[in-house]
Amino acid sequence: MKVRFYGVRGSLPTPGPTTVRYGGNTPCVEVTVPESDELFIIDAGTGIRELGGRLASKRGKPINLFISHTHWDHIHGFPFFVPIYMPHHTVKVYGPTNDSLDLSLQDVLTKQMEYSVFPVRFGDLQASISYTAMKRGTTMMGGVEVTAHPLNHPVLTLGYSLAYNGCRVVYQSDHEPYYNLFSDEDPDANSFIDELNREIVEFARDADLLIADAMYTPEEYETHRGWGHSSTFHVLERAIEAGAKRLAVFHHDPIHSDDFLDRHLDVLHKEAETRNANVEIFIAAEGEEIDLGG
Ligand SMILES: [Zn+2]
Ligand SMILES: [Zn+2]
Repeated sequence: MKVRFYGVRGSLPTPGPTTVRYGGNTPCVEVTVPESDELFIIDAGTGIRELGGRLASKRGKPINLFISHTHWDHIHGFPFFVPIYMPHHTVKVYGPTNDSLDLSLQDVLTKQMEYSVFPVRFGDLQASISYTAMKRGTTMMGGVEVTAHPLNHPVLTLGYSLAYNGCRVVYQSDHEPYYNLFSDEDPDANSFIDELNREIVEFARDADLLIADAMYTPEEYETHRGWGHSSTFHVLERAIEAGAKRLAVFHHDPIHSDDFLDRHLDVLHKEAETRNANVEIFIAAEGEEIDLGG
């Protein structure tokens, strides 16, 4: 199983000289299982454009596209994903459906291609495209075990786990640890919140690679509580608790330059050393491929 990052930036594409090493495209991750007769992609941020170019000429293998949630940075590359325009491609889109908004996944993707904001009509897409609402649970797709699990974010958001032949990658973006919005003194509420946080850890249990939204430093998090994102220390703690082998720090804040991320990686390495943690930590970088074996 191989994992390749096509987009690692959160919120907004951030091209430019200060982000050129880690990359400015928004989330898109390709998971390749050579033995499978299907392809796997998580999220359709702007990074999916380049991946689409690579896949365009290949025919045959159906593309499974898992959307974590419908915030712009996770879907706004979809209209630029070339295979959706080509009749010989099959694209199966999976993601959460937000019942409270009364909008299906397809509705939201269609809306970002309306005439007022996009030149090509949704009806012009020529690939065979299906849309399936994902819920918590596990399904087999092309021999790969795919599990979805809800995360804590301002719109319904799913984390995904893809496992094959004893190898597992876990994607948790975007997510903020659950916390008590009301009284800290309510023991029932606190134990419920602890349980929810434990579920997130269990979802990442023994992952060969945990890709986790770590948008803020611990100091920045204090002024962004409730925005739906984790700090780097949150994800380090989660990776340690879950026994993950590798941690990809992901969904970088647009204001964080490559140099800033390098400096903060040093802080994370020191913290991991202090905790005697046996996890390989790195900053997710566009174009980087991780071979997980399996
Ligand atoms: Zn995001
Ligand atoms: Zn989001």
